[in-house]
Amino acid sequence: MAEKLEQIGTCRFCGQTRVIETLKELTQLELDEAATENCICEGAIEDKRKRARRTKINEFVNRKFGENKLADSIRSLADLVEDGTFEEVTFKLYKDKIVRIWKDSEFNIYIRIKRTEQDELKA
Ligand SMILES: [Zn+2]
Repeated sequence: MAEKLEQIGTCRFCGQTRVIETLKELTQLELDEAATENCICEGAIEDKRKRARRTKINEFVNRKFGENKLADSIRSLADLVEDGTFEEVTFKLYKDKIVRIWKDSEFNIYIRIKRTEQDELKA
């Protein structure tokens, strides 16, 4: 049975060190990543929230638009709303869709795709 190694990682936000038990030798980068992952300081928690949010945004955008230049652009715009460059972004897509991206007071990101044209017939 493999012996457990005890190595030291450092949280990259607060600098707190932590003993990481591993089965194989990890690089310092991996140890720091593990220490950050297990840390409960404000920076580490915000980072976890951010990554979870990123995953959700990716899934949503890919589901709605597929993997393409448009999806990449929407992700970039969401990043710019997230970091506060834009308070909100609204743009017209194709001929009948409006996309709005904004952030609420708790820093949640919203992406809303709204159809603007209704199916209408005049005969
Ligand atoms: Zn920390």
